[in-house]
Amino acid sequence: MSYVKEAFDKVKLRDPDQPEFHQAVWEVLETLEPVFDSHPEFKDARILERLTEPERIITFRVPWVDDKGQVQVNRGMRVEFNSAIGPYKGGLRFHPSVNLGIIKFLGFEQILKNALTTRPIGGGKGGSDFDPKGKSDMEVMRFCQSFMNELFRHIGANVDVPAGDIGVGGREIGFLFGQYKKLTRKWEGVLTGKSYGWGGSLIRPEATGYGQVYFLREMLASKGDSIEGKKCAVSGSGNVAQFCAQKVLSYGGKVITMSDSSGYIFDKDGIDEDKLAWVMDLKNNKRGRIKEYATKYSSAVYHEGKRPWGEICDIALPSATQNEIEEKGAKNLAKNGCMAVCEGANMPTSPRAYEIMNEAGILFGPAKAANAGGVAVSALEMSQNAAFDDWTSEKVDSKLDEIMAGIHKQCSEAAQEYGQKGDLVVGANIAGFLKVANAMMDQGVV
Ligand code: NDP
Repeated sequence: MSYVKEAFDKVKLRDPDQPEFHQAVWEVLETLEPVFDSHPEFKDARILERLTEPERIITFRVPWVDDKGQVQVNRGMRVEFNSAIGPYKGGLRFHPSVNLGIIKFLGFEQILKNALTTRPIGGGKGGSDFDPKGKSDMEVMRFCQSFMNELFRHIGANVDVPAGDIGVGGREIGFLFGQYKKLTRKWEGVLTGKSYGWGGSLIRPEATGYGQVYFLREMLASKGDSIEGKKCAVSGSGNVAQFCAQKVLSYGGKVITMSDSSGYIFDKDGIDEDKLAWVMDLKNNKRGRIKEYATKYSSAVYHEGKRPWGEICDIALPSATQNEIEEKGAKNLAKNGCMAVCEGANMPTSPRAYEIMNEAGILFGPAKAANAGGVAVSALEMSQNAAFDDWTSEKVDSKLDEIMAGIHKQCSEAAQEYGQKGDLVVGANIAGFLKVANAMMDQGVV
């Protein structure tokens, strides 16, 4: 049995009830076979067994009191996965679906993604099964304070630096930061995604979506093509989707769909800047549902309980959640002539869907490379906090653009070196893995 298969079997045996984690691990491990042929020392050092086992997992009770005076109890967790190249870094997700397997899949992806950014950041992830939807600001604040009452012991600007993810935006980061400061009496860059004016970086809110489109631009450029005039199906309407759509528009693309967990809207005339500003207000301030778009704009149709991959598009930009493109969606995209998929969400494509799209020759930008812009700018936020400095949006945006182009180059070069020219999935996995594995080798068995 190959070393890769042997290591993967151990992962499944140890935690048989974590399918998303298995999926994320296998998607990486299956592409690493050629690396072990040229680096047998990694096997002797049991790098895969160590890489797939978190350095530390913390789970804790989060009790809080709702507006009716009732006591509620949620579960909080933080997976400190790998610190070989820097402090643990990765977001917090607040969503009812959160469990340890999901947080481990996200944390595992984060290790290699962070390595690709070329910044000194390790991998981690955390969250809770708390659902901020429908909660008042005061309920969200009480929850965040209780969450931090335990988490503060485990994090720090040079130890572990959480950020946002699904359900954790500027409001939640503010409440979490306030409580950390109260408990520790320290103002430090312990969280990223802070608001501008008290330690946040300009362009951090935009970074994941903008970075995704910079990566897409590089993918298309490698084929002598561009975003201009392309019909783009975007999923999600949260942080990543909003700024992905904004950047597509700025490159002359046409955004035809957006979605939330209830359904999607298709706008035949396209979602232009004004309509997008309306969506941002709906989602970020009014906290409404995407179906309201179809009432507001007669050019749009709402499809309840469906995903947008049946619409005819040139480019798909999945930016909502994991496994949102499955077999049927992939077949539709292939049938309808979609030329490129660039992932904004983490692991939005199921393994079967990826196979179908690969066979159909669809260009594919994997999440750990294509959505690394968010964490890259988080690292820039950490640099600014450490130096008590404040950079202009032009400076941050141009660094983000440079980092994304650099990630695309690293992935292309690694793919070519290992005989898989043009395969950015293989390239991202190998380039990220080599950086982390070499650091682990240098640091001994720890
Ligand atoms: P938000 O919470 O801002 O938005 C999430 C969007 O996805 C919402 O429109 C939400 O709809 C939708 N969604 C959530 N769960 C589901 C589901 N089960 N089925 C269909 N739609 C769903 O999160 P972000 O935009 O920050 O994150 C989106 C994705 O991008 C996630 O995979 C995240 O891990 C990834 N990501 C985010 C980064 C960031 O910087 N924010 C960085 C890198 C990756 P609804 O409102 O109905 O819940």
